[in-house]
Amino acid sequence: MSAQATDAPVYVIGHKHPDTDSVCSAIAYAYLRQALGDTRVRPARAGDLNAETGWVLQRFGLPAPERLESAAGRQLILVDHNETAQALDDIRHASVLEVWEHHRIGDLDIPRPIVFHCEPVGATATLIAEQFLLNDVPFSPAIAGGLLAAILSDTLALSSPTTAEKDRQMVRRLAIAAGVDATLVGAELLAARGDLAARSVADLVDSDFKEFDFAGHRVGIAQVEALDVSSLVARRLEALAELARVRERRGLELVLLLVTDIGRKGSHVWSAGDHQAVVDHALGCSAGEDEAWVAGCMSRKKQVVPALEEAFAAL
Ligand code: MN
Ligand code: MN
Repeated sequence: MSAQATDAPVYVIGHKHPDTDSVCSAIAYAYLRQALGDTRVRPARAGDLNAETGWVLQRFGLPAPERLESAAGRQLILVDHNETAQALDDIRHASVLEVWEHHRIGDLDIPRPIVFHCEPVGATATLIAEQFLLNDVPFSPAIAGGLLAAILSDTLALSSPTTAEKDRQMVRRLAIAAGVDATLVGAELLAARGDLAARSVADLVDSDFKEFDFAGHRVGIAQVEALDVSSLVARRLEALAELARVRERRGLELVLLLVTDIGRKGSHVWSAGDHQAVVDHALGCSAGEDEAWVAGCMSRKKQVVPALEEAFAAL
């Protein structure tokens, strides 16, 4: 490193197959370092942007970082990764100056003391945001938006078990700085992934389908979990027809589909077959209203299965 020109660029870069946390943490950390007077530091990325990240950058008016194809001879600050398998292929020929991370400690062999900040929080962006506060550097609205989006992305809008109190605190601060509603951004962000809308109802029902025997009654329960389930809710009638087909094909008495809305913390419970009134009663479905919504119902194994077991046993 001592051989490097003092004005040689320092790239802040996340992992390959970059996600929103990798990209926005790189952008924000470079911004922070520049605000502190280190004009060598610039953001980079190690691959193509995914649909969600593309949406985030456009939403908050952030330019896409430069793409680095090679790490050789570069000075790098790593964010959101510290394993060689996730880094640029020739990372061993780079000079790693710092690491900002929230994964397990990896296998990088760094032959001198560096800043290596790893903390079990929901997103690297939380740690970068904290550095703005510690260094008394104000967030621009765009930077705040990018960091906010990164935390919401990694934590599935703060619903993932990886979510730490520090993530929640940063989301509150960043939403104010960005002038946005974090809940809305979270929903838009996960919708931008485009998963549900792009998949057929048959595929959605089939991908997480389990059969149960409840006191001699054979019941199938499928589950779809997403932050924004609107594209599936809009296909409710199509889904009900699919449930009826699956019931027939598998010879079941009853088939359920839990459409779990992570953001709203509950599930739509759709069913085809016998005993639908039993289901509605057991789960507390607000039948007819809001597409059979059950507030607070998130877990098939902890909530739905025990309630149905009990209800069918009492028939
Ligand atoms: Mn990541
Ligand atoms: Mn991350």
